[in-house]
Amino acid sequence: MVSQVKKSKALQKILLGGIKPEGWIKKQMQRDLSGFVGHLDQLIPELFIDDKIYGKNRLTKKIRKKSVGNIQGEDEWSQQYLWWNSESQSNWFDGFLRHAYLLYDKKSRSKVDTYIKYILNTQDKDGYIGIYAPDLRYNFTGENGELWSKTTLYRALLAYYEVTKNKKILEAVIRAVQNVMDHYPVHSSSPFSFHKPYAGVSHGLMFTDILNELFFITGKKIYLNYAVFLYRDYCRQDVSEKDIQLKNILNKKYKLCGHGVHTYEHIRSLASAFFATGDLELKKALSIYLKRIETTTTVSGGPVGDEWISKRNANATSTGYEYCSMQELMHSYLFLLQKTGELQFADQVEKIFFNAAQGARNPEQDSIAYLKTDNSYEMCGTKNGEKDEIKKQTRYKYSPVHQDVAVCCSPNAGRITPYFVQNMWMKDEEGLVCCLFGPCESELSFNGKRIFIKETTSYPFEFSIHFEITVETPINFVLKIRKPDWAKKMQSNIPCKKEKDFISIHKLWKKKEIFQITFEPELKTNFTQNKEVYFSYGPLILALPIKAKEKIIKEYKISGFCDTHYKPVSLKQYEYRNGKIKKKSGQLVFETEFLNIQSGKKETVSLIPIGKTILRQVTFKNRK
Ligand SMILES: [Zn+2]
Repeated sequence: MVSQVKKSKALQKILLGGIKPEGWIKKQMQRDLSGFVGHLDQLIPELFIDDKIYGKNRLTKKIRKKSVGNIQGEDEWSQQYLWWNSESQSNWFDGFLRHAYLLYDKKSRSKVDTYIKYILNTQDKDGYIGIYAPDLRYNFTGENGELWSKTTLYRALLAYYEVTKNKKILEAVIRAVQNVMDHYPVHSSSPFSFHKPYAGVSHGLMFTDILNELFFITGKKIYLNYAVFLYRDYCRQDVSEKDIQLKNILNKKYKLCGHGVHTYEHIRSLASAFFATGDLELKKALSIYLKRIETTTTVSGGPVGDEWISKRNANATSTGYEYCSMQELMHSYLFLLQKTGELQFADQVEKIFFNAAQGARNPEQDSIAYLKTDNSYEMCGTKNGEKDEIKKQTRYKYSPVHQDVAVCCSPNAGRITPYFVQNMWMKDEEGLVCCLFGPCESELSFNGKRIFIKETTSYPFEFSIHFEITVETPINFVLKIRKPDWAKKMQSNIPCKKEKDFISIHKLWKKKEIFQITFEPELKTNFTQNKEVYFSYGPLILALPIKAKEKIIKEYKISGFCDTHYKPVSLKQYEYRNGKIKKKSGQLVFETEFLNIQSGKKETVSLIPIGKTILRQVTFKNRK
């Protein structure tokens, strides 16, 4: 069960650049870099290039309104939009720089370097790097993005430090964080106490990401203590997002109701407070919170967030999930995986990444869905036949940008793959741990000696993994390989010890050693929370694809980019009547007979991985 946080034997994460994508993951990243990840700034230059929000266009008391590209509401809401471009720019830059460095793309890397120089030049003498002019900074009465605009940018700056080891960057971030700690002194200030605070203030709790990373790099506990202080203060204040507040978690009757993306990212702040203090009340709270999140997560791993959870449980047809929420929940599971060493969290990471996240990308175009459901019967702005004329829902479509709503999901869709790649391997005190599977190459070190790893596979589309381990001088270490929760059987052609959720290979490694691990997946019939049937094969959730008609609704100045709607050619919905399901030899295609609800007749249909679909049915009513 995901909800059990038992031991606390942390793994050590690998610095960005230590693990490089290969095979299908590399191809997809290359496609994204030449697609929406590489072009987002040029697709909407007015938000990304023209608005130097960290530089000459820093916000002052004089600015009341600002273009962030979406259809804006009434004036009283305008405060919440002012910081938006900082999140869009920095989350995009974080994903872009990780792509540029993991793919060794020279042109993109030089663009990254230029942007880094620009940011360093914005740093004030006192260390401030942020979006507010001196009249406004740390001096707000209401909603603001002080900590959040810093979090999104500093995450990228620290990633740049990890991959380049450029000390100037680290020093700049340390000074900038010190500037925050000087103005919001620990235990004698209240960084979350404002009049009617909104999303920016609540996102600001994620400054704990920066503090955890600085602790990882410098080993200084002052950062962890500050992260605990932030979480404790957040719990006390009347903030807009209350799911993570300790009193609400410990209240048995409370149901998650917040803005999804906040609810899922805040896991890391609570978890970091627990890991820093060992406080048993926080441990209990973390377990309760993770259990609640199980109920808000669909079978593909998509967490309810369309955009508020509103006390609902996940439902394959009616609850949508936002791309941002997938990235944030996956990041939180990665954080828990690293902090606890419990490999069960890796199963959750793979579930989101291979299913919900792949399934919300357009397989044919350079675009993603802002909102998506597991059962997806139409993508025409609204979902699955809902009439929503009042709110004018437009999020259920494919776009490289989604400018009419908010440019949040495309930047986060550019972050998700590099975050997955960076965490495929970790270290423990005995050696190396293979946490997530997929094609990659790594150059790691253990006890000061270099180890090269080549993992050849097209996992999760096949289940054999070929490992090549090369060392320069003989070295003793333990190599642990996770056993996925779905794998009943696991074979290897190298002597190994079988543990509960991993195998371990203890040996003196010499020169180049080659071995293979094979998992045996089986086709599994599973049940959703409301007793519908769905099918899985190994880590993959299966879907019945629905033929769709594509309509281009917007074209961009840069050729090849467009927004699209999809309507079913003819909508058929099916029930499962316990028919046998056969896998086609050599393919990930599963044939069976389902009942067509509209015609009342049985039909032969094929199921394929959800990640390869646009419109689809994933869950089925089951009558004998
Ligand atoms: Zn979003």
